[in-house]
Amino acid sequence: MNTTIVGYPRIGKMRELKFVIEKYWRGEVTEAELKETAKTLRSENLKKQKQAGITVSPVNDFSYYDGMLDLAVMLNAVPERYRKLNLSELDTYFAMARGYQGEHGDVKAFAMKKWFNTNYHYMVPELEEGMELKLQSEKLFAEYEEAKQLGICPRPVTIGAYTFLKMAVAQEGISKITYVAPIKEVFQELLQECNKRGVEWIQIDEPALVLDMDEADKKLFCELYEGILEVKGSVKVLLQTYFGDVRDCYQELTALSFDGLGLDFVEGKYTEKIIQENGFPKEKYLYAGIVNGKNIWKCDYEKKLALVDSLKKVTDKLILTTSCSLLHVPYTTKSEKKLSVDTLKYFSYAEEKLEELHELAELSEKDYVNETAYKRNIEVTHSERGMKDNSICKQVAALSKKDFVRNVPRTERQKLQREKLGLPIFPTTTIGSFPQTKEVKANRSRYRKGEITKEQYDEQVFAFIKDCVEKQEELGLDVLVHGEYERNDMVEFFGENFGGYVFTEYAWVQSYGTRCVKPPVIFGDVKRIEPITVKYSKYAASLTKKPMKGMLTGPVTILNWSFPREDVSNREMAFQIALAIRQEVLDLEAARISVIQIDEAALREKLPLRKAEWHSDYLDWALEAFRLCHSGVKPETQIHTHMCYSEFEDIIKEIDEMDADVITFEASRSKLEILDALKDAEFETEAGPGVYDIHSPRVPSVEEIVEALRRMLDKIPEEKLWVNPDCGLKTRGIPETEASLKNMVAAAKILREE
Ligand code: GLN
Ligand code: ZN
Repeated sequence: MNTTIVGYPRIGKMRELKFVIEKYWRGEVTEAELKETAKTLRSENLKKQKQAGITVSPVNDFSYYDGMLDLAVMLNAVPERYRKLNLSELDTYFAMARGYQGEHGDVKAFAMKKWFNTNYHYMVPELEEGMELKLQSEKLFAEYEEAKQLGICPRPVTIGAYTFLKMAVAQEGISKITYVAPIKEVFQELLQECNKRGVEWIQIDEPALVLDMDEADKKLFCELYEGILEVKGSVKVLLQTYFGDVRDCYQELTALSFDGLGLDFVEGKYTEKIIQENGFPKEKYLYAGIVNGKNIWKCDYEKKLALVDSLKKVTDKLILTTSCSLLHVPYTTKSEKKLSVDTLKYFSYAEEKLEELHELAELSEKDYVNETAYKRNIEVTHSERGMKDNSICKQVAALSKKDFVRNVPRTERQKLQREKLGLPIFPTTTIGSFPQTKEVKANRSRYRKGEITKEQYDEQVFAFIKDCVEKQEELGLDVLVHGEYERNDMVEFFGENFGGYVFTEYAWVQSYGTRCVKPPVIFGDVKRIEPITVKYSKYAASLTKKPMKGMLTGPVTILNWSFPREDVSNREMAFQIALAIRQEVLDLEAARISVIQIDEAALREKLPLRKAEWHSDYLDWALEAFRLCHSGVKPETQIHTHMCYSEFEDIIKEIDEMDADVITFEASRSKLEILDALKDAEFETEAGPGVYDIHSPRVPSVEEIVEALRRMLDKIPEEKLWVNPDCGLKTRGIPETEASLKNMVAAAKILREE
């Protein structure tokens, strides 16, 4: 039986791509050097796949920044403002990805949004008036030819026309419909070009098919693909879906002349049922996504092989693959030198998943129960894992309604807090982290390598905190932060201080562009062992008369940015973490920290993609978990939360139900659309929509910020408006951070005077 994968990680086993791109941005390597590293990485990936026995490998799953951005370029959908910069092709690409400020001009980046229910972010393509769409397929075919040279059987991949149209934004005043025909034509050109080059299979990813689809959506999809497939000639088309099932459009998918359908049997709740009930067309190949592309656990061969057996009864054209691109998992457990064999034996990263796929394919053709590979797997996946704590489970079981409510209503609390904190109107603050400079990183790395003690490490952290607090005083900010120098990552840091977690050295996954995260692994029951942030916040508070904000990460975000267990529910894990954070909140309050921010950057991230499942499967327990963290504080303690990266217009009511006193959120990239939603919902929580984009190094002018604030004041009552950047500053450099904050404070002052 053949095996393939939907896509492979591209950042490099040791994050080589990240480092070389960042060097390129700093002018430390040339374009040629950058491209050489990229090529080496691609060829290593392909060789790995071949060695593991993968039959056909996806190509063009590689990207210098993001696949959606690559597709925009392939369609020639490059907005005029970037063309006008007159930069090289590669620099134009990076200008779209991260904005550009320099001698060629000053433009903002594309908006960035969360990619479905993952922690990956894509660049939102823009469609503008007069854009001339045409095929620019150099990258796709170059990577195809490159793979062939290596003796690989390559299958070029691109995101498809439907998902592109769904995710793109059209310039005001024009309708996306205008672009249906041109986009269809470019995809036709692509298939024609594939024919010319003798491409055997092409993979077109249409994850947007797992979202709720109405009649108009289905019509659009059919219109696009009836057209595209008309010219397919001898190239075979694999229509790949992931992150869920295709319950709304299975009929259409099977009726169209695709040669293969890629379906997700891991997150697709109904995938199996849909196939059993409707059958599967004889002439098509079923690419069955049975190995989880998002989690790091070894899969249970008993379950997987039972599934394969049942699929074999439905079709004899079965190919085993991953549930989604392996982009969302790290490279290989072989890099992990610190974890014990006993822990590591449960894990499977990208390389190991290749092996699992191959093994499953081989076993499925045998009487597998007596095979060693099978028995070896069962021995691990069916064993009891350890790190259990019954007392935590009991506490969770004993929680009741009153544990989730704060006694004094929010409007009363807000009054008490303003008095106590003595804040001006339009208070300024930041989201928590300050630039993680070379020195900050060096300190951490020396500690990690054991070159300095924990005391020496903390001494340095305290020195950074001192500078940071002084800087903020100088800048004139109102609610200060300690800068988060003790943490490299808002989730890993807490995980490291909790019981029940396991840490990896190299489980990096791409979050956006060159930014990677290393999610910790929830291995057993989670609990706090001792206070985590209190000493840092307490020290910072001692340096100033202004309010110091304590800084924590919320339970839903910690859960969503960890690799979760598969043996207990998400609700159970979220409540365990919430109990741990609650202890920390109460300890901060006892240390006289009267503003405490509990970040829920990823609250919306795991919101089920289908509306019908929002509350029952997720929001009900997610909101309770957040409230559990802060329901025990005094009314005058001000609870902040922060969210970023995603649209949350549609869960405004639920955000209000978190019962925080203040929320700061990302707004500058999503163009402030959310403000209308706040107004319509009569949002109660005080709000700080980010006044500038921290994902880009460009410095916003005072006028620009004043203008943003004025727009906000149309929708948010003045006594509820906060002034802040749209996210933490840790990825920025010091010069632009100080310049930006200076302008931000100046803008707040102008408004106050008015
Ligand atoms: N407090 C965190 C920081 O400032 C929040 C980060 C985030 O929202 N992603 O870094
Ligand atoms: Zn943020």
